[in-house]
Amino acid sequence: MSKVFNFSAGPAMMPQAVLAQAQQELLNWEGLQTSVMEVSHRGKHFMALAERSIQQLRELLAIPDNYQVLFAQGGARGQFAAVPMNLLDENGKALYLNSGYWSAAAAKEARLFGEIDEVTIGAEKNGIVGVEQLDFSEVATQYDYVHYCPNETISGVEIFEVPNVGDAVLVADMSSNILSRPINVSKFGVIYAGAQKNMGPSGIVILIVRDDLIGKARANTPSIWNYQVLRDNDSMFNTPPTFAWYLCSLVFQWLLDNGGLNAMESRNRAKAEKLYAYLDQSDFYRNTVAVANRSLMNVTFTCSDDELNAKFVAEATKCGLQALKGHRIVGGMRASIYNAMPLEGVEALIAFMQRFAQANQ
Ligand code: PMP
Repeated sequence: MSKVFNFSAGPAMMPQAVLAQAQQELLNWEGLQTSVMEVSHRGKHFMALAERSIQQLRELLAIPDNYQVLFAQGGARGQFAAVPMNLLDENGKALYLNSGYWSAAAAKEARLFGEIDEVTIGAEKNGIVGVEQLDFSEVATQYDYVHYCPNETISGVEIFEVPNVGDAVLVADMSSNILSRPINVSKFGVIYAGAQKNMGPSGIVILIVRDDLIGKARANTPSIWNYQVLRDNDSMFNTPPTFAWYLCSLVFQWLLDNGGLNAMESRNRAKAEKLYAYLDQSDFYRNTVAVANRSLMNVTFTCSDDELNAKFVAEATKCGLQALKGHRIVGGMRASIYNAMPLEGVEALIAFMQRFAQANQ
């Protein structure tokens, strides 16, 4: 098979070593003569896996003891609803920072549950206002929580500073940049992320929730969305997606074996810098994101018109560079270069971009 690189934004490519291990263990997991997806989630083998996965994630993110790691279903969008159900008092208010499509979608869903204030933090040219304007410490006290999305997957905008909300509760949708670099978990009340970009396959969501925020859900919160129910039942109130959970655990181990998140950050920076450096010196391609907010995970770019963009995507696909079409609402191209994407993939993309530019100048 000739080498193919998959730049999908999610479900995204998995580390090849993880897929090979899953393949090798598929018919006989832990000597049980059956696959992991065929055993009881409450049996000792799967319970041990679940516990191991939590320890792996705790180690990777240096999660303090006063936080719970929970696993849920319903995608990140499920958490758009679960967050207000668990944290927004019926008479309370929440503040949503709008930096693009996903943070706006989270705010829209939260409005189903109560009063939401929204403040746009995307400045001109797809940048984010300066760090001094990410200071919400004065206003935050009037809100039950402040929500933001540190990596807008569609536009390729990343917010590297953590907004200052003083003692208020900060909630983050880290679906597209979790585990891409170290973070200080203690700055957050709740972190949630769909697995399908940087952790595993779709179907499972990881939650990191501070202890004191568990047990505040509204009385009419459906049990599967209630953080307390999830915690009290080891994230197994309903049958969890066991195969997805298993794959996440293999990815966590792969990250630990490859130097953890410091090493991932160096790799991710090297990949992104190489691609942005190429874009910057080119007069054929354009990236419009402010330099300070260029995502390390999703690199967006365009040629001069839609026809050329379509030609780029079609020819790239033929050359084994897959899934480079930008999201339908913004068009253009997007190269998602999560942890599993090797530098070699970015180099192959740049080499193709050079050839395409020369042929179509
Ligand atoms: N938030 C972000 C930042 C995303 O990128 C996505 C999916 N692309 C979502 C939320 C929605 O995730 P899901 O499809 O798992 O609900």
